[in-house]
Amino acid sequence: MKYFIGNWKMFGVPNSINILNKINSYYSKDKNRSKYRVIITPPYTLIESYAKHFKNKKISIGSQNCYQKDYFSSNTAAISPYMIKKVGARYTLIGHSDNRSEGDTNEMLKAKVQFALKNNLRVVFCIGENKTEKRNKKTLSALKRQISKVLEKKFRISNIIVAYEPIWSIGTGKIPTKIELENTTMHIKKVLKNIFKGKSPPVLYGGSVDGNNVEIFREIREIDGFLIGGASKSSKKFIDIIKNYYR
Ligand code: PEP
Repeated sequence: MKYFIGNWKMFGVPNSINILNKINSYYSKDKNRSKYRVIITPPYTLIESYAKHFKNKKISIGSQNCYQKDYFSSNTAAISPYMIKKVGARYTLIGHSDNRSEGDTNEMLKAKVQFALKNNLRVVFCIGENKTEKRNKKTLSALKRQISKVLEKKFRISNIIVAYEPIWSIGTGKIPTKIELENTTMHIKKVLKNIFKGKSPPVLYGGSVDGNNVEIFREIREIDGFLIGGASKSSKKFIDIIKNYYR
């Protein structure tokens, strides 16, 4: 199974559902539809209405983050996985570099993953090296650290997806070479298999994916799908990625 996950970040109002309606109607008629899933993570404000709208349809809705503990609490602006699940989301991103740079530590991420899983959300756990780590050839060790500080063998593997997003690639138009991608994704799966008794959850790639470069990723067997930022805000660009991937 492949995954095409659109991360809307701080984008969208109720009307933006038109973008998803177009993606949904492409998806419902696509002859390849049994091979992949489409998940969109809109801002919190839109989760409930979008999840209701797509309840019996192909697209699943997720959140972009969640709080690490408590069903309810006095923490201003925090939203718990329990609240997210209750309004119909099925997935949540955790560990996106935007949130890591705002202070999410490995300890917090571990608590978030654990609590999201407890609330029956599927977790899309994001990892990725920064520019300095890449320049200093520390990519593999950085990725190993990010994974092993957070994921534990007791976590339910069937509810975990890992998204590899090199930070230097997000929103920049730059992507890794094919060889780099083969090495990193193989390494990530090896680290995951060490944790999960020989099994690996799906590993996605994220960072400047578009309809023109998606064919490069298709050649790398270890990549199980994509986390798509910028291009997920346009139905045409998002559909082009799927179309060109299966061409
Ligand atoms: C992201 O922020 O998760 C992302 C992959 O963004 P983009 O596709 O715009 O690089």
